[in-house]
Amino acid sequence: MRNFNFYQPTRIRFGWGGVNEIGRVIARMGKRCLLVTVKPFPALEHVFEKVKSLCIEAGIEIFHFDGVIPNPTNDCVNIGSEMAKYNKIDVVLGVGGGSSIDTAKAIAVGATHEGDVWNYRLGQQRFESKKVLPIIAVPTTAGTGAEVTNMSVIKNPDEKFKSVLADWTLTPRVSFIDPELTLTVPPHITASTGFDAFCHSFESLLNKNASDFIDLLAIDSLKKVIKYLPLAIKNGSDREAREALSYTATLGGISITNIGTTLPHGISMAIGGHVSEIMHGESLAIMYPEINQWTWEHAIPKFAIVGRLFNHDLKNESDKVAAEKCCNEINLFLKKIGMWMNLKDKNVPESEFEAIANDTLKLRNYSIHPRVPNLEEVINLIKKSYKRKD
Ligand code: NAD
Repeated sequence: MRNFNFYQPTRIRFGWGGVNEIGRVIARMGKRCLLVTVKPFPALEHVFEKVKSLCIEAGIEIFHFDGVIPNPTNDCVNIGSEMAKYNKIDVVLGVGGGSSIDTAKAIAVGATHEGDVWNYRLGQQRFESKKVLPIIAVPTTAGTGAEVTNMSVIKNPDEKFKSVLADWTLTPRVSFIDPELTLTVPPHITASTGFDAFCHSFESLLNKNASDFIDLLAIDSLKKVIKYLPLAIKNGSDREAREALSYTATLGGISITNIGTTLPHGISMAIGGHVSEIMHGESLAIMYPEINQWTWEHAIPKFAIVGRLFNHDLKNESDKVAAEKCCNEINLFLKKIGMWMNLKDKNVPESEFEAIANDTLKLRNYSIHPRVPNLEEVINLIKKSYKRKD
């Protein structure tokens, strides 16, 4: 066996209706709570109201920052942090998709440190772990796993760059993972977030740092996404499918927080830095076909495992054949879930390709991919994903 480290400090409360316990849990951490969400809209407004009243019943004073935007920016986090400072907040509660949970995490840093939160991204100024406010997460999408990860992804639009704040204190203390809250996610967002969960498990498996222990989680998670994602897209009220997807998203989060993601996530984050309108899962879906085709020969055993999860008949084939066919199985899966798209469809300008490739190499993801690319190879992968049709 290869040596491995594992750490997961989040108290996970998984299950239907679990969020009803939230007031009691937050009350143990503080009296003044900042609820962090997008602007209320019909699918989630009642969730925000319910969480607020559960907190109030538990004697907590609740303040609502509803300024979260998709692909959250440092400006958005800085505004939330000022609100937290002004109201002397002692616990931050993120309710929503990955964007809301990441904003809550970054506010937990911004509220206790001076200046722009962007200064505290990875590789820059260190923030003081012991000052970070406690974080509680309530995911309403099933994908990012942010409810159990130790990072917050934020974007600086002036620099056209997405980076992370990372530290174990950014791992939520408690996460309420209640599949009920995901029943309203529309089909395309279900597909995009669900494919993100697929990628977390797939990339944890391929990763140069992979461990036997995380492989177990990743393989179980992949089996469930492959089976249940198409079902949840077809029928959003399918409770069994929604439950399985919430579970896989959490397993994926545990995997990436211990192992990390690889090249597709690196390029996808770089694309997100340059183009705000693209969903994280969409940029992954766009890059996967070319990256897989370019990678599979460098990770034959792992591609073979995944190929056989898609197609049981590949058990009778050699690893090499199963691995090569895995690429096509993933392409077919993307078509089945309505995520077969290219960079042109999503208006990613050709003029940005070189900058996107340069930014990819500023993040560490590419360096733990089974085949490590140089700048020219990243540019080629991006170019091939521009107009791909079939
Ligand atoms: P999101 O949070 O941006 O949400 C997408 C859309 O879905 C939003 O319009 C949101 O309002 C809507 N939505 C959320 N819940 C809903 C519900 N129950 N019903 C109807 N609509 C709902 O998308 P996401 O994919 O969850 O998060 C993406 C962000 O997470 C990106 O910025 C990405 O970089 C980041 N991310 C973070 C981590 C991490 O570990 N911190 C991991 C992966 C991705």
